[in-house]
Formats: sequence, C-alpha cells, structure tokens
Amino acid sequence: MKVVTGIDQMQMVAEKARCAGKKIGFVPTMGYLHEGHLNLIRRARQLSQLVVVSIFVNPTQFGPQEDYQSYPGDLTRDTRLSQQAGCDILFVPSVEEMYPKGYCSYIEVKGLTQVLCGASRPGHFRGVATVVTMLFNIVKPHLAVFGQKDAQQAIVIRRMIRDLKQNLEIVVVPTVREHDGLAMSSRNEYLTPQERAEAPVLFRALEWAGSQISAGERSAKNLIQGMTRMIEAGERAEIDYISIVDAAQLRSLEQLDGDVLIALAVTFGRARLIDNLLIRV
Ligand code: AMP
Repeated sequence: MKVVTGIDQMQMVAEKARCAGKKIGFVPTMGYLHEGHLNLIRRARQLSQLVVVSIFVNPTQFGPQEDYQSYPGDLTRDTRLSQQAGCDILFVPSVEEMYPKGYCSYIEVKGLTQVLCGASRPGHFRGVATVVTMLFNIVKPHLAVFGQKDAQQAIVIRRMIRDLKQNLEIVVVPTVREHDGLAMSSRNEYLTPQERAEAPVLFRALEWAGSQISAGERSAKNLIQGMTRMIEAGERAEIDYISIVDAAQLRSLEQLDGDVLIALAVTFGRARLIDNLLIRV
C-alpha cells in the first residue's frame, strides 16, 4: 500500500490506473478508522482493481461550535488497518492544498439538505458535497462506497452525482454495530463510560419502532412518541431530532408507506450520535 499526500500525484496515479483499464473503487473517510470503515474498504476491494481510501477531516463540513479541532485521529493505526482491509492507496491530502488561500467554490444540493442533520448543522452538507466532489475529481473513481449509518449523506451524494452528471456508481453498505447495537462511529470515542452505557438506547428505540411497524403501527406520531420516551428515560441523552421521512425525498410522513427512513440524532455530552433504520412498509 502506498500513502499519497499530493493532489497532483494522486491524480497521476488515478489517470494511469484508468488508462490501464483498472476499475477504481474509492472510500472517503475522516479517519480514526473502525470496523464500519473497514467494511466499506473490503466492499471496495471486492468491486474494484484499485482501492483508494482518503483520510481528510474536512473543515468546511463542521460548524463553528463543532468538533473540528478535537476530531480524533491516528494515522499510524489507520495506515495499518486500511492496508489489512485491502486498500492500495491511502490518500491523505492537506487542508492547505485542498482549500488554498482564496478558495471560493461550493456545491449546494437544495431541499434534501435542509432537513434532519441539515436543519441542525447548517452548511454541513454543502461542505460534504464540495469535498466529495473535489475528491471524486482527484481520485477519478468508477465507484465510491458510503455507509448507511450516514443515510442522509448517501442520499444527498446520490442526488448530487445524478444532477451534476458525475460519472460514477455509489454503493451503500449496511451500518456496522458494536455487540450491544451502538452504531460504530469515530465520535463514540468522546463518550464517558456512563454515556457509553446509555447510548445503545438509540438502536433499541429504532428496533422497537421496527417491531411496532411489523405489528401494524403506521402512525409516525405514535412511533416518535414511543422512541422519545425510551431515549428520554436515560439521564444523559439530549434529543436533537427523531424524524420519520420518505427515503427518497426526505419529506416528513404522518402515515408510514413505501420506503421509510427513521432517523435520529442524539447528543450524549460531547458526542452527537446519529443512527437510522431504513424500512419498507
Ligand atoms: P466518516 O469517517 O465518519 O466521515 O465516515 C466515512 C464513511 O464511513 C461514511 O460513508 C460513513 O457512512 C461510513 N461509516 C461510518 N460509520 C459506519 C458504520 N458504523 N457502519 C458503516 N459505515 C460507516
């Protein structure tokens, strides 16, 4: 495995691979890799001949009060883990080269980014869409792998590549969880032992909603009320949102029907955690 930091060099490697007829699979990350990321890399390995993983903590997707400065990282460990998972090129660009002085171009995906996480993190998806496009332009992948854990992100990126005619395939891989159901996240690192003990309630609430739906419940209000009660029963959880939306347009539903996304964001101390359940009703 090779570690590449220069944008020019990464573009040359990608160009060469394309000319040689190799299929490039790409996994963008912010590093501090866990089993969720590694699963994406393994999927890219199965689907392509050159696997590129990027590690870039993107400043433009963090709000001013968010954790950009304290976001965890461990490049030595990430290098070892990504190699073991089947990565060929680890691309680690610098902020200075990605956003040189005078940088002023941004991509906005309207509508889909105004709800759920977009409502509480204004500008977040603008930063995501912009950096992902930049990375696509550098890595030139035939396919890019994303996690279902960030369901809204995957939906926004799918829409962006369709609207902007970006010529690649998006693959979405299921959420990897800890043994107690907590979705793996680099931000779980922030949890105190007490918060960590409480955090699996998010998955339990989603599972409860899933079982209610299987038993015939169709009222979003009833489901949200039940989930809210479960999560608020703990001492440390602060709900940002619990929403039930249609999985294509992310519009709020009153009655569940079709492909439905139940998404939530809950803060435990320093950690803002998200999780979701995609369900066909
Ligand atoms: P991040 O490093 O948090 O920006 O995540 C990079 C990619 O890994 C995104 O596509 C995420 O959706 C995905 N990802 C993060 N956590 C998980 C998880 N627990 N299961 C599956 N994919 C994940």
